[in-house]
Amino acid sequence: MALTMFDKIWMSHVVLERPGGDALLHIDRNFVHEGSFHAFGALAKEGRRVRKPRQTFAVADHYVPTVGRERGVEAAEDADARNMIRLLEENCRVNDIAHFGIDDDRQGIVHVIGPELGLTQPGLTITCGDSHTSTHGALGAFAFGTGASQLKQILATQCLWLKRPKTLRIRVDGTLAPGVTGKDVVLAIIAKIGTAGATGHVIEFAGAAIRGLSVEGRLTVCNMAIEAGGRAGMIAPDDKVYDYLHGRPYAPANADWDRAVAQWRTLPSDADAKFDREVTLDGSKLEPMLTWGTSPEEALPVSGRIPDPKTLPGADQRAHAEQALAYMDLKPGMALTDIRIDRAFLGSCTNGRIEDLRAAAAVLKGRKAVIPAWVSPGSTTLKRQAEAEGLDRIFIEAGVEWRASGCSSCAAMNGDKVPPGLRCASTANRNFEGRQGKGARTHLMSPAMAAAAMLTGRVTDVRQLLQGR
Ligand code: SF4
Repeated sequence: MALTMFDKIWMSHVVLERPGGDALLHIDRNFVHEGSFHAFGALAKEGRRVRKPRQTFAVADHYVPTVGRERGVEAAEDADARNMIRLLEENCRVNDIAHFGIDDDRQGIVHVIGPELGLTQPGLTITCGDSHTSTHGALGAFAFGTGASQLKQILATQCLWLKRPKTLRIRVDGTLAPGVTGKDVVLAIIAKIGTAGATGHVIEFAGAAIRGLSVEGRLTVCNMAIEAGGRAGMIAPDDKVYDYLHGRPYAPANADWDRAVAQWRTLPSDADAKFDREVTLDGSKLEPMLTWGTSPEEALPVSGRIPDPKTLPGADQRAHAEQALAYMDLKPGMALTDIRIDRAFLGSCTNGRIEDLRAAAAVLKGRKAVIPAWVSPGSTTLKRQAEAEGLDRIFIEAGVEWRASGCSSCAAMNGDKVPPGLRCASTANRNFEGRQGKGARTHLMSPAMAAAAMLTGRVTDVRQLLQGR
């Protein structure tokens, strides 16, 4: 029988099946961050410990301060944030779990350090108590977020009961035009199918435009699979993935490497595998994208105009758009390039990787930002890499703050908030009301587009600024 990549990974991890489709799945890797305290607390209450501590890896990311990091946890102004960081450290110590804490060179956003350290590998089942765990699927894993009670189950048993999701293949054909990135691809997908478009499905992203993306670009696409409602996102591993993983600290080495690659090569979906649903897009027609509203599906090409809610097809869509326009203080018919931008944030598990920093630096080099802007690299390791490449100098000379690694202004849990009423060009993945702080207005876009907004103080088609570069 022809199998999808998801089928192959699922079948090789089922421990037990119940009538009705539920399966007990073995979990190969589990990541935890500061938000895991409920699950650790519930486990301790029952007098239990983590069953397989070597399969769980912890990192402090959501609450870590991005300025004054030389002072470690004391740099966090908020006592609750300091407690969250310390509680994770203590839960890891008690349970003998590897912990990349605030002072560790391997610290970073959980969905950045997993691939970076080689912990994320093709064919694995990967969990984390965090919705954007879908990111890891870019390397050919089945990776998904869990709630607190599911996390407790994984910590206690290294297994999880799960209902088998359906499969959706999204093919993006053609070649992307210059200036069009993985972020633009995934925003275009969500704009097409909606935030509930993949509910109940695992998405396999395929097609020439997806294969043409770097591993970093693929991580961006899978990161936002969850914003389309997907249970997970995945992309078939190929030589780009093997080159990316080779030599990373937790990747297999020597003869194990050869055996691993031979097994990984069997993972891609069979040519005649059947998916429950299929969606296609023409990648060659895509432009740089951005969101105008308060949902990732409220996104348009940069050449577009804000829609009149009355023209939208569904009643829910119309009502949401009315509310979004009021919150964002925008008017139907307005050109996106007329939107003023007050702040810009470059970072997050969506777009805080080295390729993202390079893309923004290529736009900023030799130019000056006209609005307050900051960069928070996705990991401490890649912050050092960027500094070795001189990218930090480009940002600093452009007047952009060069901060330490963490989730920062993506969810602003560490205090990196955008003031009420101000608009922020953000390279993250969510633009809900209040996501970056109460009253903050978020426009999602690619790193290059965010850099263009830094230079002009308004939404700008970055392709104009890339001419001759
Ligand atoms: S960067 Fe944002 S989306 Fe990613 S893990 Fe942190 S808070 Fe969540």
